[in-house]
Amino acid sequence: MSTERVVLVTGGNRGIGRAIAERFVAEGHRVAVTARSGEGPEGTLTVRADVTDSAALDAAFAEVEQALGPVTIVVANAGITKDTLMLRMSDDDFDAVVDTNLGGAFRVVKRALKGMIRARFGRVILISSVVGLYGSAGQVNYSSSKSALVGFARSLTRELGARGITSNVVAPGFIETDMTAQLPEETQAEYRKSIPAGRYGSASEVAGVVTWLASDDAAYISGAVIPVDGGIGMGH
Ligand code: NDP
Repeated sequence: MSTERVVLVTGGNRGIGRAIAERFVAEGHRVAVTARSGEGPEGTLTVRADVTDSAALDAAFAEVEQALGPVTIVVANAGITKDTLMLRMSDDDFDAVVDTNLGGAFRVVKRALKGMIRARFGRVILISSVVGLYGSAGQVNYSSSKSALVGFARSLTRELGARGITSNVVAPGFIETDMTAQLPEETQAEYRKSIPAGRYGSASEVAGVVTWLASDDAAYISGAVIPVDGGIGMGH
């Protein structure tokens, strides 16, 4: 096992974030999750925070630091969709998605960096999506917010790579969670046909890649985009 670390996962009460938090607990780390509602899995500390609110995030971090110590692995997972075609997309639909998916990652990573710099160790893992680079009709807001995470991780790699901090992007394809369950059954079947693996992925398949990126084995990987998508995004 890698050295025991303090991990914070945003949106760890359900879906992919919950599976990631579970996996970190199973690997013996001290794990906190932020949640707006509900609780993180067994063995985690749940703190309340909305990722669009810097003050709430700051308070949540203070609580985690007090209980578990400085956070050196941060997973920016919280995300939303507000899908509609561009011509119908309101400014609010655009702003809300970008502010949560990109702004939220910015706020949470920024708050974690000082502790990482002090520790001369850090793992920043940003949960993007295959559609960030593949594109998706009806998702100009979402896709933009997700591709921006690539520039984010790569810029941070150039800023802090020499300080033992890595910054990577995980790009899931279609994963079985509440987010994909919202899609009409017909659309889900259509998507399934286009996935070389012939099935949706599970949240635990994403979690395994995230914990590996956080491990000592992945110390020399930074600025990478790791697809977990059954092959749907090949070539991107
Ligand atoms: P879910 O919709 O199941 O869960 C979303 C999580 O994000 C919830 O914990 C939710 O909290 C949290 N969240 C949303 N907005 C905020 C906010 N403003 N502040 C704090 N927490 C917030 O999504 P998934 O688990 O499917 O997705 C997780 C991540 O993976 C997202 O970034 C998503 O874009 C990405 N992804 C998902 C894919 C999929 O197929 N499922 C594919 C590719 C990427 P609450 O319960 O309080 O609403």
